[in-house]
Amino acid sequence: MTKSSDTRYFGDFEGAPITVRRTARKKSIALSVRDGAIVILSPKHVSDREIDALIATNTDWVRGKLAKQAETKKRTERTFVDGEQFLYLGEEYPLKVVDGRKALAELVEGSFVVHARRSQIPERRARSIRAAFLRWYKSEAETVLTQRVAFFSPRIGRTPKRISFRDYKSMWGKCDVEGRITFNWKLVMAPEHILDYVVVHEMAHLHHLNHAPAFWQRVEAVLPDYKQRRKWLKDHGGLLTI
Ligand SMILES: [Zn+2]
Repeated sequence: MTKSSDTRYFGDFEGAPITVRRTARKKSIALSVRDGAIVILSPKHVSDREIDALIATNTDWVRGKLAKQAETKKRTERTFVDGEQFLYLGEEYPLKVVDGRKALAELVEGSFVVHARRSQIPERRARSIRAAFLRWYKSEAETVLTQRVAFFSPRIGRTPKRISFRDYKSMWGKCDVEGRITFNWKLVMAPEHILDYVVVHEMAHLHHLNHAPAFWQRVEAVLPDYKQRRKWLKDHGGLLTI
């Protein structure tokens, strides 16, 4: 890999850091907001004044993005204490922590009941509650997604060779050339019609391993409103986390 770019701190926008990365590979300037920071990718020749102008003309957009990301961060920061809300199939359920020897989570009568050993160190207890949640979510994801794949198989006319579950940072699913599909287990936090979109999307890749029009036609044939579902995921996917 050749190193033909340089990244530097450019300044602040209402408290959010701005980073500019100039690279020879880039033909036009691109502005994005990620994790509460402003990132600008630009060709080598773009001047600081042009970057200032770009930010000035997109102030509202940047502000909106920063506000939304701050809100998502606030809603997804966990302390694992009683009353905190956790998602399952699009519904929020409050956490109820009870003393127990083995960390175990279950959904009982509208609450997430998690058994955890009482600890002198709150962080340790929080970690073990989180671990219990992860085990529960992964096992639910396996049950729910396996069942949805079976439901859509006759509708799509293909069955994956294998399905597996992983913790992806920025991907909901993946289909490989061998016909194996991997799902992000966090999908089980989404409403079922949203999770269905990812199932259908990945299964449509069993016909077309690309995003060409024929691929989208196949998705649309099964889910005529797939665009709304995809948009929901784009807008709210950040909330599906623990
Ligand atoms: Zn795809």
